[in-house]
Amino acid sequence: MTSGITKRWILNILSVIFIIVIFIVFCLSYTISTYYTRSVEQSISIRCNELEKIFTDVTTDTTTDFLSTAQKYIEDFPHKELMELQSLNSVGRTILTSTGFFPDEKEKMPDLEQALAAKEGYAITESELSTGENIMAGTKVIRSQEGTVLGAIRYVVSMEDIHTSNILYTLIFSLMGGTVLIAVYISGRFLLRSIVGPIKEMSQTARIIAEGDFETPDLTKKYDDEIGDLSDSINYMAHELKQTEQLKNDFISRVSHELRTPLTAIKGWSETMLLTGDDIDRQTFQKGMNVILKESGRLTSIVEELLDFSRIQSGRMKLITEKTDLVAELDEAVYMMKERSIKEQKHLMFDTPIEPFPPVLGDKNRLRQVFLNILDNALKYTSEGGNVIVQILNQDNLIVVHISDTGCGIAPEDLPKVKDKFYKANQNVGGSGIGLAVADEIVQMHGGTLEITSGIGVGTTVTIKIPVYNEAEIVEMEEINKGEING
Ligand code: ADP
Repeated sequence: MTSGITKRWILNILSVIFIIVIFIVFCLSYTISTYYTRSVEQSISIRCNELEKIFTDVTTDTTTDFLSTAQKYIEDFPHKELMELQSLNSVGRTILTSTGFFPDEKEKMPDLEQALAAKEGYAITESELSTGENIMAGTKVIRSQEGTVLGAIRYVVSMEDIHTSNILYTLIFSLMGGTVLIAVYISGRFLLRSIVGPIKEMSQTARIIAEGDFETPDLTKKYDDEIGDLSDSINYMAHELKQTEQLKNDFISRVSHELRTPLTAIKGWSETMLLTGDDIDRQTFQKGMNVILKESGRLTSIVEELLDFSRIQSGRMKLITEKTDLVAELDEAVYMMKERSIKEQKHLMFDTPIEPFPPVLGDKNRLRQVFLNILDNALKYTSEGGNVIVQILNQDNLIVVHISDTGCGIAPEDLPKVKDKFYKANQNVGGSGIGLAVADEIVQMHGGTLEITSGIGVGTTVTIKIPVYNEAEIVEMEEINKGEING
């Protein structure tokens, strides 16, 4: 069965080519046929003009003069095999013919009357004899000097050969046209098969992928062209979807695990306290309550991170911006992490600059959240005794924050992907794998950048750059926005 594209190709292209070929065949046949007919007509016309001179050169004042000149002319005529010559009297009766055969007198040819009426003195007509033969006849009227009609000379050419060759040419042209059409059809079918086949295969594969099977699809690249590129893209898409699916599944199990750990601690301590009842001593009670508080805090931050991630994914994350002192926010974040670093026996160092820093336009809480996230990672991936060094600099209208650690580092092949959602380079340490993705998005929303450099066993440096608050630029931007809204 012809598929959609093939049907469209036949309708849109092949039918147009068919019409063009028919038109060309018709034009060629018509031109050839007209050319031959005109040649005969021209040749008769030359002969008729020639007669004028022949009959004026000799004295032809009487019918007898005309008859003798006509007889001589017919006898001496060199092209008798190409055309028949007839001599007619003044009333149109054939008196002499070059073939010796006389036409049927009932056969009325319109040429004599037309020649009598014509200014040139001759007329050329095409007609069909009673035998069915097609002829072209040219009749030239011969007049005396006073203008009396003495008779006429008629040239008769059979058009049968010309008609036969016209038919032959038409057949040849039609055959050539047909060959062109067949060639176009065959090459078109081959081309279509090379397009339709892979497209069908690809649509089948796309359906398999849509049904969630990312393993089966493996399209073979048959052609090194756009179709080949498309099958490569589909393979790549299946591969990426497979990885994302894997990452998503890992993420769900990781997050479930992350949620279960604090929940187990909360549940355990709650049960202990409930079972012990009033017999619980103050110290154990406080210890239990601290664990419950700490673990609920952990749960809250996991849920907050998930909510932020979902807000970013759906584009609902909004910043509440104001002039912000980045040094103060960084200082606050370092302060919040200080106790933990001491507990984990890691050196967290930050020399708060004395000189004032220009403000940035930012969301205080979000920026602090970014610093906390990076610091959390730095501490998480650095072992006991390691260092986490925080620096802030004012460089060319940018506030630059470096958070470096002497931790495990990130492998070069993982480095480009760590900012991707769900991606975890280190599976041994807990974490959802979305922290850096959220931090990167927040920094970008502030018009800044977050870059990571790292080396295995050397450590990691995260560099955050946020543009300095520029009143003139902000006023200009607000005016542009206002203009756009009013416009
Ligand atoms: P996670 O919750 O797993 O820490 P992140 O998005 O914050 O998720 O980080 C993604 C991955 O980047 C981590 O799993 C880890 O492998 C790597 N990573 C991030 N920060 C550091 C760091 N300071 N040192 C080593 N590896 C890091």
